[in-house]
Amino acid sequence: MTQTRSAPVAAITEPSSVSVRDLRLSFGSVSVLSDLNLEIREGEFLVLLGPSGCGKSTLLNCIAGLLDISDGQIFIKGKNVTWEEPKDRGIGMVFQSYALYPQMTVKGNLSFGLKNAGLPRDEIERRIAQAAEILQIGPLLERRPAQLSGGQRQRVAIGRALVRDVDVFLFDEPLSNLDAKLRSELRVEIKRLHQRLANTMIYVTHDQIEALTLADRIAVMKNGVIQQLDAPQVIYNRPVNRYVAGFLGSPG
Ligand code: ADP
Ligand code: MG
Repeated sequence: MTQTRSAPVAAITEPSSVSVRDLRLSFGSVSVLSDLNLEIREGEFLVLLGPSGCGKSTLLNCIAGLLDISDGQIFIKGKNVTWEEPKDRGIGMVFQSYALYPQMTVKGNLSFGLKNAGLPRDEIERRIAQAAEILQIGPLLERRPAQLSGGQRQRVAIGRALVRDVDVFLFDEPLSNLDAKLRSELRVEIKRLHQRLANTMIYVTHDQIEALTLADRIAVMKNGVIQQLDAPQVIYNRPVNRYVAGFLGSPG
């Protein structure tokens, strides 16, 4: 009930932060996403949840500009970015595999994109100091990735998006390589980061607990189709179909 009443109001009062319109994506003759539409609100923490192979990474990579889409349009902050380079989209991406430069120190990893963008040295220093403070990686700045634990590497990977001062953070299963204790620690950290920055975050996972604890809204995917997009408690208590119920709904 609340969901049908609140959605149109939100759509009128707040412009979307990320808007995916009639997106199609095929690998060769295999269609992975067809006519997918998704509106993500400014400042929202949206979780894309679904089993392995359902198209979560593909959708995220389309938003990031890492895949050429077959059809459709993508808007970020009202701007059509469908043909923009990834670096010009105002997004920062955090991968499961960290994707740090192994030969560079932590500081080098954090400053690399900023130097390329031509930022002044003192501004780079300021941003790195701030990110180091927020993510508690100050003592690690001179180390190389091989000298870090998985959790520390992922903090650095998040830091690399943070220093770029992006509008939208994209996370692709960032905690999947970590043990349970680190996963729950970093989950809290990411939630705190979102509360502090208040920017838009799109977070891909197959983990129901992550989705329920992090999301403002969850998009449950199956075979490239969003089955339900709602607040966690709505999905949990009122799943729209058996699939959603089985994947995330309350038992019984
Ligand atoms: P998820 O992230 O939900 O696990 P993916 O988006 O990675 O799923 O994959 C969705 C589907 O697309 C899967 O069937 C996968 O095998 C296929 N796929 C993904 N990437 C490629 C690719 N580069 N070439 C061909 N098929 C791909
Ligand atoms: Mg994936």
